[in-house]
Amino acid sequence: MSNYQVTARKWRPQDFSQLVGQEHVTTALTNAVNSGKIPHAYLFSGPRGVGKTSSARILSKLLNCVHSPNICGECPACLEIASGQSLDVREIDGASNRGIDQIREIRDNVIYAPMNLKYKIYIIDEVHMLTKEASNALLKVLEEPPSHMIFMLATTEANKVLPTIRSRCQHYLLKRIPLDILIDRLSFILQNENINFEREAVEEIAVAGDGSMRDSQTILDQVILYSKDNLTMQSVREVLGIPETSYFETIVSAVASQDIVAILEQVQKYLMEAGDGVSFAENLAKFLRKGLLIKKLPQNHPLLELSEDKYNALSVLFADLEEDDILTLLNLSLELSETLRHEKSERFWIESTMFKMLDYKNRVSLSELRQEIFKLLGRNTQNNNPGIQHNAPNAARPPQPANTQQQQQAQQQAQQQTPRASSFGDKWDAHKKTMGQRPAERPVERQPAQSAQPDIAKPIERQQERPAERSQEKPAAPAEKPERLTDAITNLFEA
Ligand SMILES: [Zn+2]
Repeated sequence: MSNYQVTARKWRPQDFSQLVGQEHVTTALTNAVNSGKIPHAYLFSGPRGVGKTSSARILSKLLNCVHSPNICGECPACLEIASGQSLDVREIDGASNRGIDQIREIRDNVIYAPMNLKYKIYIIDEVHMLTKEASNALLKVLEEPPSHMIFMLATTEANKVLPTIRSRCQHYLLKRIPLDILIDRLSFILQNENINFEREAVEEIAVAGDGSMRDSQTILDQVILYSKDNLTMQSVREVLGIPETSYFETIVSAVASQDIVAILEQVQKYLMEAGDGVSFAENLAKFLRKGLLIKKLPQNHPLLELSEDKYNALSVLFADLEEDDILTLLNLSLELSETLRHEKSERFWIESTMFKMLDYKNRVSLSELRQEIFKLLGRNTQNNNPGIQHNAPNAARPPQPANTQQQQQAQQQAQQQTPRASSFGDKWDAHKKTMGQRPAERPVERQPAQSAQPDIAKPIERQQERPAERSQEKPAAPAEKPERLTDAITNLFEA
């Protein structure tokens, strides 16, 4: 017989100090036991593998240990309960004992006093799986149990437990375990098992564990079996089938620098080495989501699930992209993953998406559109519509210090001297400069009214539309995409 014991069992917490990430529960329970306030029914709910049945077992020890309200870990009560051999602390799996007969058996037994311990305890796991009849029978038992009897119910779906059962229990909600706590616990276990490990590898396991200690430990076991006594990032990737982030780092960087060759080469490399089209699209989307979160959240925010080094590296990588740009790329990746689920020629769809991604700068973002509309509304309604003040800095503002007012006037004058149409172009230039590109790289300027050649790319009605007026109104007409957007909105308002 094998002596192998899985990590989750071997390292199961034996007291509340080892039950990490659930201090709100363990503190409340310890205080309650210390003050002698013991209800006859508890309900532990929360995601899988976060410590619900462990809480119930530890609480059973806390109540029954000869040194209660402490856990000595050495008395017969502690030893019996820890080994699962106690006749007074019984565990029942609600998923496989769903019927009324099992609950009737409990009902018939509760009247008998505990054999060895102070309290007789039933721990019913996955209690929401009980049949309706069994739930009703359990409710009867919970209504008036003898004083030596305590029920501890555990469930991943508290909302499926009868409300009448819930209302008879003291309810403790366990949470997903934060990433840093998972990492610390896994590292602690590895150190005690004398296994060398790369911190990055443990982080990846904890991320895959998704807030569950048991899941994290199960993955850890798998990787240890694969990589023996040296836990590396490479072995974690191979076991979990996680592609290197370097594929996506290269793609994001190549999108920002408009390098289609690098992008297509990287796609090819991914499909040869790492996975299929759907996994490519999904992993790219996950990677871009990280980029978006980095723009929005401070470094240590738990939602980021990133070490400091990774955070810094990704911040540099995404520095060239605006939030809107990343959102555009993310939406394209999600569309691609959806498309690839029912389309066969994955390379075609991936490549055409990559071309669309490359064009991200020419996709009008909502915030740009909104800014333009406000600008135009401000221009058209200045001084006669106090409701809209986006471009009317003097309206309904508290008095400003003199120098600020002067600055504003100077700014306004400068704005008035600049033709309206070019302000967006200037912004575009500034934007490009911050993107690390020369303003000269702006798309070829169009001068619709002065151009001798009709522009076939434009819709016909646009060309036939009041050419004289348009040429007077916008003598400079500098930028391409923004200018056409501005025109469209102007026409909309002037129509
Ligand atoms: Zn004890």
